Amino acid sequence: MDIPRIFNITESAHRIHNPFTPEKLATLGAALRLERGTRVLDLGSGSGEMLCTWARDYGIIGTGIDMSQLFTEQAKLRAKELGVADQVKFIHGDAAGYVSDGKAGVAACVGATWIGGGVAGTIELLAKSLRTGGIILIGEPYWRRLPPTEGIAKGCLADSISEFLLLPRLLASFGQLDYDVVEMVLADQDGWDRYEAAKWLTMRRWLEANPNDELAKDVRAKLTSDPERHAACTREYLGWGVFALMAR
Ligand code: SAH
Repeated sequence: MDIPRIFNITESAHRIHNPFTPEKLATLGAALRLERGTRVLDLGSGSGEMLCTWARDYGIIGTGIDMSQLFTEQAKLRAKELGVADQVKFIHGDAAGYVSDGKAGVAACVGATWIGGGVAGTIELLAKSLRTGGIILIGEPYWRRLPPTEGIAKGCLADSISEFLLLPRLLASFGQLDYDVVEMVLADQDGWDRYEAAKWLTMRRWLEANPNDELAKDVRAKLTSDPERHAACTREYLGWGVFALMAR
């Protein structure tokens, strides 16, 4: 079981697989006023940077589930590197339908809401692992500006303009699900560059090391077109944030 290989190639050097910088991740942890010993569940935990750094900085106890074998291995190594291997556990597996045994104080899905079939379904799934009064974290894109054409939306790797909302509408949608938005930290364009531009050097080096790989043609095409696509589309039109929610 694994995610499509292209992501394991392009994001192999990423610690954070979204437009958050390490500073934003720390800001979010501080904003949540995490108490030591808080249990944090993370569906789609990637390379584990959120759980590992929050374990180090705020003393949380974490469980992460991720379908990428590579990212899960990297998460375990990171936990050892930061000296928090006894506080965080990383499971390689499908997080769809995952409900934890013990209840978490924070249940998160940061940039992987397809796991629950969209934002609403993911909130419903996370709520099953959450203790009363706990916080749900949703990391999700929104439109900074509405794309003028469907072509621009596709350039942001959205299926269509209707796939994402403008920020006020996204915030209102949480209310419609009967949740208060109690905090939020938003990514910025520099963060998008760290997420997207970091893939370019990784792709270039991978191509040099794997010229005959079956994905070499795809990776070459992506490296050729991605910088312009990023500057014209994602960087200008797509926003991204993590939203902290509490049931009303
Ligand atoms: N939250 C992490 C990763 C976000 S990228 C971070 O912010 O760094 C999306 C992640 O979802 C990837 O790590 C991918 O491997 C994982 N993923 C995709 N489908 C999944 C599934 N069905 N179950 C668990 N993880 C999944």
